[in-house]
Amino acid sequence: MALMFSLAILAYSAWLIYGAASSYDEGKAESLYNLALGVMGVLLAVSSLTTMRRRIQAVRAQSIRTLTVELCEKCGFKSVREFKVGDYVHKRLGPCRQCNGDLLIDMIYSEPLRREGF
Ligand SMILES: [Zn+2]
Repeated sequence: MALMFSLAILAYSAWLIYGAASSYDEGKAESLYNLALGVMGVLLAVSSLTTMRRRIQAVRAQSIRTLTVELCEKCGFKSVREFKVGDYVHKRLGPCRQCNGDLLIDMIYSEPLRREGF
């Protein structure tokens, strides 16, 4: 809805600028006014579209979380934590916290974030 509105403003502003540019030769004072209005409309539409895009991206980034499952080969100790940059499946993480066996990344997966209060 807001997107359609912004696009409509953009189209109207483009039409104003076009109209002002084509009647500029005639030296009308109102063409300058239309030009200013058109430019303002374009700026308004572009800024609202940019804000909207940023908001959508932020919502998308928050709605998914990536998890890393650590597994000990020896004792089967398993723990789930947030994914960190540099994580990959079968990466060795060092000694297990329980038995000193090899702790490695068993799997990495994403899941939708549960939202409370909605
Ligand atoms: Zn272990």
